[in-house]
Amino acid sequence: MTALVVVGHGTRSAAGVAQFTALVERIRRRAAGAVGDVEGGFIELSRPPLADAVGALAGRGHRSLVALPLVLTAAGHGKGDIPAALARERHRHPGLRYRYGRPLGPHPLLHTVLAERIDAALAGDGRADTWVALIGRGSTDPDANAEVAKVARLLWEGRGYAGVEFGFVSLAEPSVPRVLDRLRRLGARRIVVAPYFLFAGVLPDRIVAGSAAYAAAHPELDVRLADLIGDCDELADLVLERHAEALRGDIRMNCDTCAYRVALPGFADKVGRPQTPHDHPDDPVGGHHHHHHHHQHGDGDPEHGHDHDPGRGRVAVVGGGPGPDDLITVRGRALLDAADVVVVDRLAPRGLLTGLRPGVRVIDAAKVPRGPAMAQEAINTALVEHARAGRRVVRLKGGDPYVFGRGHEEVLACAAAGVPVTVVPGVTSAVAAPALAGVPVTHRGVAHEFTVVSGHLPPGHPESLVDWAALGRSRGTLVLLMAVDTVDKIAAVLVEHGRDPDTPVLAVQDAGHPGQRAVAARLDGIGALVAREGVRPPAVFVVGPVAALGAAGG
Ligand code: SAH
Repeated sequence: MTALVVVGHGTRSAAGVAQFTALVERIRRRAAGAVGDVEGGFIELSRPPLADAVGALAGRGHRSLVALPLVLTAAGHGKGDIPAALARERHRHPGLRYRYGRPLGPHPLLHTVLAERIDAALAGDGRADTWVALIGRGSTDPDANAEVAKVARLLWEGRGYAGVEFGFVSLAEPSVPRVLDRLRRLGARRIVVAPYFLFAGVLPDRIVAGSAAYAAAHPELDVRLADLIGDCDELADLVLERHAEALRGDIRMNCDTCAYRVALPGFADKVGRPQTPHDHPDDPVGGHHHHHHHHQHGDGDPEHGHDHDPGRGRVAVVGGGPGPDDLITVRGRALLDAADVVVVDRLAPRGLLTGLRPGVRVIDAAKVPRGPAMAQEAINTALVEHARAGRRVVRLKGGDPYVFGRGHEEVLACAAAGVPVTVVPGVTSAVAAPALAGVPVTHRGVAHEFTVVSGHLPPGHPESLVDWAALGRSRGTLVLLMAVDTVDKIAAVLVEHGRDPDTPVLAVQDAGHPGQRAVAARLDGIGALVAREGVRPPAVFVVGPVAALGAAGG
C-alpha cells in the first residue's frame, strides 16, 4: 500500500489552511485506490504540522512514503525548507524512507485552471483585447522566477489573449505596479491580474491591494482580478500525477539553470551555498529555524531588504540621457527598475525617480554637502559602501556618463574598492540638444566632423587643455557644453584665430524639457544675445554651418 504526504509551507491565512485541508480530502477521494493512504501537513505556521502527518502514516505501518511539496515553483521552500523538514522526520522515525516529488508547475492542467479563472473574471468579454498580468510569488532564485516567465508564455500560446506578461509580488521585479504599467504602455485597456498562487495568504492579498491601487490611479483602465487556483479537481489530479511519477522514480529536476549549481551571471556567489530562505510576510517573526542559518533583513521590509547578501552588491553608472524620461536606454531603465539605491545628479532624468519601487533609497548627489571636490569623494564613498552592503546601486547621470560627467572617476573608485561596476552609455546632450532643436551635428557636404568642448574653463585659463587656436582654424562643427558664462570669450578667440564672424551659432537651453528654447546668432553676436535673452544653463551651443540647417523644432 502506497502512502502520500502532501507538504505545505503554512500560512497565516485561515482561508488558505481551509483550502489546503479541502484539497487533501479531495486527493483522497480522487485517488480511488491508486494511493493507499494520504495525509497533509505544514512545515510551519499552520496545523496540522508535518510531524503529525508523518506520525499518522508511520503509526499505520508505512515505512516508505512519497512526499510532495505543494509548491508551484522550485524556489526556497521546495529546494530547501521542505527537504530540511523531511530530514527531521526521518530522524524521528528510524527506518522511514521517502521519495521526494517535483514541484507542481509548469503543467498544462494548471494553465487550464488559470485560463478558467481568467475567463470567469472576463464574464463574457473577449480574450482578444484582454491582457493578462500573471503574478508569481517572487524569489531571489532566478530559476524560480524564470519558471513564472515560462508559465506566462505557455498561458499565452494558443489561447488568444492580446498578451500575457509576468510579474512578482515580492523579492523580484517587475512588481505588480510595474507590470501593470508595462501593459498600459503596450496599449492594454482591459487587464486581468491572475495570481499564480495555490491558496489564500498574505501575498495574494497584497496582489489584490496592489492591483486596486493601480486601478484607482488609472481610471481609464479596466483592471480585474482572477481567482486563485484554489482547491479543485485539476490540482488534486496533478498531485496524483506527481505522486505516480515519484513512485516510478523518473523524476528529473531542472538543475541546468539552478543558481546553486551553475554560475549564473549576477548570482555566481550562490554556487555551492546552502539555499537561504528569505522573510516573506507569511514567515514567522524571527525567521526560519533550519540547518542553514538565516539572516534578518536590515531594514525590516521583506520586499526590499536585500542587505543580507553582500555578494550581490554592484554599481551601474548609467547615462540617463538629456532629461526627458524616455531618452534613457532600455538597459539603463532595467537597471533602475532593479535598483535598491539610486544616486542621482541634478541634470539626470529625475522624472524616472517617481517610478521607482517603493522603498528604494534615493540619494541626491546635488545636495551632498561640502565643496565640489569633497562632494565627489562623498559620492564615491556612498557608491562603494552601499554596494558592499549587498545593494544594487545605480548612479544615474545626465546624458552620457563619460562626457564631462566624472563617470570614469566613479568607475575607478568602485574598481579600486573591489566592487563590481559597469557603465551604461547614454544619449549625450552634445548630440541630442542640437538634434532636439532640429540641428544635425554632421550633414553630408556641410560638416564631416564635430568636436565637443567644455567651456567650463575660459580660453587662456592656466588649467585649460583645449587648443582654442586650432578650433578657430578648423571648419567643423563645434559643440560647447557648460559655456553659458564663457561663450563670449570663446567666440572672440575663435574669430581671432580664423573662424568667420558670420558663422551661425544656435544656443539650445533645457533641451528635451517642456521649457526647451533655442536662440540663433552669428558667432560675433552670440555673447551679447546670451546676455540679452537671459540664456541659462543647462544649454548647449552648436557652432558651424550646420547651425543654420534647423528644419524641425528650434
Ligand atoms: N554628461 C552630460 C554632460 C554633463 S556637463 C551629457 O552627456 O550630456 C553638463 C552640461 O551638459 C550642461 O552645462 C549643458 O551644457 C549640457 N546639458 C545637459 N543637459 C542638457 C539639456 N537638457 N539641454 C541643454 N544642455 C544640456
